[in-house]
Amino acid sequence: MGEAYDVIIVGARCAGSPTAMLLARKGFRVLLLDRATFPSDTVSTHVVQPLAVAALARWGLLDRLTATGCPPIHTFTFDFGPFTIAGAPGTAQAPVAYCPRRTILDKLLVDAAAEAGAEVREGFAVDQVLVEDGRVVGVAGHSRDGEMFEARASLVVGADGRTSHVAEAVKPQQYNERPPQLAAYYAYWSGLPMDGRFETYVRGDRGAAAAETHDGLTLVIAGWPNAQQEANRRDVEGAYMGALARAPAFAERLSAARRETPFAGAAVPNYFRKPYGPGWALVGDAGYNRDFITAQGINDAFRDAERLAGGVGEALGGARPFEAAMADYQQARDAQVASMYDFTCELATLAPPPPERAQLLGAIAGRQWAMDGFAQMNAGTIPPAQFLSPQNIAAIMAGAAAPG
Ligand SMILES: Cc1cc2nc3c(=O)[nH]c(=O)nc-3n(C[C@H](O)[C@H](O)[C@H](O)COP(=O)(O)OP(=O)(O)OC[C@H]3O[C@@H](n4cnc5c(N)ncnc54)[C@H](O)[C@@H]3O)c2cc1C
Repeated sequence: MGEAYDVIIVGARCAGSPTAMLLARKGFRVLLLDRATFPSDTVSTHVVQPLAVAALARWGLLDRLTATGCPPIHTFTFDFGPFTIAGAPGTAQAPVAYCPRRTILDKLLVDAAAEAGAEVREGFAVDQVLVEDGRVVGVAGHSRDGEMFEARASLVVGADGRTSHVAEAVKPQQYNERPPQLAAYYAYWSGLPMDGRFETYVRGDRGAAAAETHDGLTLVIAGWPNAQQEANRRDVEGAYMGALARAPAFAERLSAARRETPFAGAAVPNYFRKPYGPGWALVGDAGYNRDFITAQGINDAFRDAERLAGGVGEALGGARPFEAAMADYQQARDAQVASMYDFTCELATLAPPPPERAQLLGAIAGRQWAMDGFAQMNAGTIPPAQFLSPQNIAAIMAGAAAPG
């Protein structure tokens, strides 16, 4: 190879493909590389929150997703044992979530990038980030059939996930880091209809959740504090079924269902990375990662892909200096997720809520406007800083009607 592009994007899933699609739609010459081929799976559950669904609609891709027969999710339930909070996670414009298999969602995104004019190379692994005079100028690597390649661009985007090779090469500043808190495993079950609900169960230091995906299958995930992982990894099935047994009504439904797949699992670190520098940028998990307990990764990846494509478009088009556009990208990302990051890291400990929080949860239950707000906060539709503001908490505790 050796061709020149405006942008090379490494990684073609939830962050990379939308970034490539949006830049190609602006007329830039984009090369999108992934060592994987599509369709293919990845270790991740896949609740796509209402705001991410709204992004798919904005990009003209939602009809393609709904055409795959993925059932919509209109209600999130949070079962704490003594009471359950059940609310609507979205907005009037974006009312539902979906839980599409990554084999289907990621393929749809890669195809949209190719359709927009990006050159897509599947089965191409980047082994090296090329740097000249302190500036990233391209990548080199190999294809599945052993062909070596090299490509150059004004900008290399690392959309290559948590173990980002691009980030490893450019060594960005990493900040506000927190270690993995939660270990969880999931599998797909048949015969477990969900009727449009994403159900969450909180039982002491165990958490579980279930959502329906394609082909009549339901994803069921269960987890425990990562500190207990060493003991539990020897008997994943026992630990998983033990967690679910703490919610007897759900366990009974499960006993009538059938597990169709082996378990997959993970525990992930939490971090922010500075997402840009000379000749490079990061998007998706490569630049920012938070525990999966709040299922925000795809939503974050879509939003940041859109922001990055906007900033890169301005910089490459000469409307703004790269540094200024990327500083805004970083600032907007960090401000947007600040309270969700703290909320997520706290939830992921599975520690019992402090007494005031427990009281608040009890007061939310049964009051529909507050339950909708709680579901929206957990979905990332509104920030935790808004739902947990002193004013909103006071209104909930006072048993008020919906604040006007
Ligand atoms: C257990 C678990 C459950 C989760 N549940 C949810 C959920 O319910 N909802 C949600 O929104 N998010 C969830 N997430 C988070 C979500 O999976 C991620 O945030 C999302 O996948 C990030 O997308 P990405 O494109 O940044 O990275 P990835 O999806 O990790 O994609 C990176 C791509 O880069 C490619 N790549 C890497 N290195 C190279 C290289 N050197 N050369 C070429 N290609 C390369 C890989 O092949 C891969 O295809 C979960 C995560 C985990 C671990």
